[in-house]
Amino acid sequence: MKSLISFAIRYIPRKYLQLFSHYLLRITALFYKGDQVSCPVCESTFRKFLPYGRKARENALCPNCLALERHRLMYLYLKEKTNFFTDQLKVLHVAPEICFLDKFEKLTNLDYITGDIESPLAKVKMDIHQIPFEENTFDVVFCNHVMEHVESDLKSLQEISRVLKPNGWAIIQSPVYYDMAETIEDTSITDPALREKLFGQRDHVRKYGADYADRLRLSGLKVTADDWVKTLPKDIVHRYALPLSEVIYYCQK
Ligand SMILES: [Zn+2]
Repeated sequence: MKSLISFAIRYIPRKYLQLFSHYLLRITALFYKGDQVSCPVCESTFRKFLPYGRKARENALCPNCLALERHRLMYLYLKEKTNFFTDQLKVLHVAPEICFLDKFEKLTNLDYITGDIESPLAKVKMDIHQIPFEENTFDVVFCNHVMEHVESDLKSLQEISRVLKPNGWAIIQSPVYYDMAETIEDTSITDPALREKLFGQRDHVRKYGADYADRLRLSGLKVTADDWVKTLPKDIVHRYALPLSEVIYYCQK
């Protein structure tokens, strides 16, 4: 099971994987029946979560909605620390994660728009280097696990800043290697094997180091690197299987 998951993750882009694996996982969920862990996104409980990742992590993937550790954390963060579920907001969700889609689409307080350059899950086909919306349009932008793929992260971040309203906020997550002081990148490398070796995945063009927040700030956004998860009680971290190393990058225009 673990090696099958590792193989699929390595060679099938996540957005397609999400689409096809959905029904298979629902059947798997029957074997994970229990009440030891809960998913805050879909409000289901299980004996444990499924293993997931290139080097499969135990207790990671919700068999029902496909939320991973970082998605569960972001969901709780939105609930506890932001106005996302309470205020009338216009939201742009770039490269939308399948676990959030149904949930966010149903929220009546949101004018919710999804966009991506190729994902079949998104409604608006768009290049993040040139977001097809006027400046000061959105109260909220989500853009997770995108910046490590794009030609120019600076241009993409400037675009997010441009379409945000003054006082608007964004969550912009990427894989960050905190043991590396500085980000490395080379968009001229196109060989998937070399990209994987240098940047950790076959379709990554950069690998972020501990300077990630500073790179976000180059766009003019104000960035709070929030390690909120570390302030949560142990039983909550365990109950929702949250990633203790995940910092939330809360950005404001
Ligand atoms: Zn779930």
